[in-house]
Amino acid sequence: MPTPSEPVAPVIGWHFDNSYARLPAPFHSRVNPTPVAEPGLVLFNRPLALSLGLDPAAFTGPHAAAGFTGNMILDGAEPIAQAYAGHQFGNLARLGDGRAILLGEHLSPTGQRFDIQLKGSGPTPYSRRGDGRAALGPMLREYLISEAMHGFGIPTTRSLAVASTGEPVIREQTLPGAVLTRVAASHIRVGTFEYFAALGDTDSLRILADYTLRRHYPEAAASEHPLLAMLHGVVDRQASLIAHWMRVGFVHGVMNTDNMALSGETIDYGPCAFIDAYNPATVFSSIDYHGRYAFGQQPGIAGWNLARLAEALLPVLHANPETALAQANEALATFAERFQHHWILVMRSKLGLFTAGPEDAALAEELLRWMHQTRADYTYTFRNLAPDASSEDSGFTAWQQRWAQRLSRQPQSREEVAQLMNTNNPAVIPRNHLVEAALAAATENNLTPLERLLTALADPYDETGQPPELLNPPPPGTPVCRTFCGT
Ligand code: AMP
Ligand code: MG
Repeated sequence: MPTPSEPVAPVIGWHFDNSYARLPAPFHSRVNPTPVAEPGLVLFNRPLALSLGLDPAAFTGPHAAAGFTGNMILDGAEPIAQAYAGHQFGNLARLGDGRAILLGEHLSPTGQRFDIQLKGSGPTPYSRRGDGRAALGPMLREYLISEAMHGFGIPTTRSLAVASTGEPVIREQTLPGAVLTRVAASHIRVGTFEYFAALGDTDSLRILADYTLRRHYPEAAASEHPLLAMLHGVVDRQASLIAHWMRVGFVHGVMNTDNMALSGETIDYGPCAFIDAYNPATVFSSIDYHGRYAFGQQPGIAGWNLARLAEALLPVLHANPETALAQANEALATFAERFQHHWILVMRSKLGLFTAGPEDAALAEELLRWMHQTRADYTYTFRNLAPDASSEDSGFTAWQQRWAQRLSRQPQSREEVAQLMNTNNPAVIPRNHLVEAALAAATENNLTPLERLLTALADPYDETGQPPELLNPPPPGTPVCRTFCGT
């Protein structure tokens, strides 16, 4: 791996080094993508390609589309489907990549390692009764929302391309098929640990834990107890991630343990969406009948998922089971405090607070309570908060006075406050009604609304030149769209 002082290599091409494929047999199954009838490039992420050290000019024409559907295997790729399990809505199941294939790990010119994965690339040994395919709409949705998350500055997997297959996929309706090329720090999930724990395969569990530590928590290696230090690190990264989801009003929608990445990146964009009116009970997913993954439940669910990870790790944490349990519990117990820590940092930034005051949490909570009661739009309200804005709502003005007093007790200028707020409160989010309209147009071969959204979301803190419909809450009467999973 080059050190930062070495010159960055010129723009080149794929540079694969497939460490996960080198792990022992139980970790994966070797399987190639199934070629599709008619590959066509729908979206290509030029800035991401450049940051990976790829030459965008090499991704034009039929060649590119063939690479992004798996019709052509990239030079140096060693396609595998990864084995994992997962608690889905609370129940443990054996899963694995049923419709995704890891092509390999690309090393960028700066030495960073990225998984390059095709999603929707055909059946694998883990497909169960599924067809291994994906529909165009959901793959465009993942591309759009993951790139939006990146624009917000929130850790996430990214999307390099969407390619159409020229084949139909049969769901409730017949839909056009597509393959997404996903770029991730890795695809190691809480469910990957659960897979080996459920099998009682402690040797594999240890290999996985050591591999994850080296790949994502190298700083833990120097600790007296590296795996426990890693667990603490995972807890902290998840606490931070969820706090940032709450910063922008993101509802993941299907926080099963197979959809929680050890890297701390947001992963697996299915029925996810952003809240408009503030309500912690907001659910979009059509299959989340009990609100398990509602907006306000996300911290609690993250804690629950981390408990499943800690449980899976017990056999490798310590030779003495009681000591292992005590250590796991000690790490888990830090989650509430770590989340509160990150949440208050997020809320201070949203309120323009540079300093820490004892009343800050109450100040934030009171505003949220008011927003809930009045069904205020989460994004619009925060973006347009100003200590001197006039309002006819006495509830709001009472809060506003307290906030103004709090602001006056810090030395920063009005401009500095506005700057902090405007770099943490997005002006543009992928609002559900806009996303649905853009995806509907895209499936009718009109990519213009989707591309407009993508452009705005590349710089979501800048409202300059954005049309009002991207900045404003949905017009009254806009129906709330359900979002669908696994399509
Ligand atoms: P998800 O809900 O997308 O996280 O997927 C949960 C599990 O179902 C994963 O193991 C997927 O690989 C698998 N899966 C989802 N859709 C399909 C499909 N069409 N064919 C095969 N497996 C699938
Ligand atoms: Mg998943």
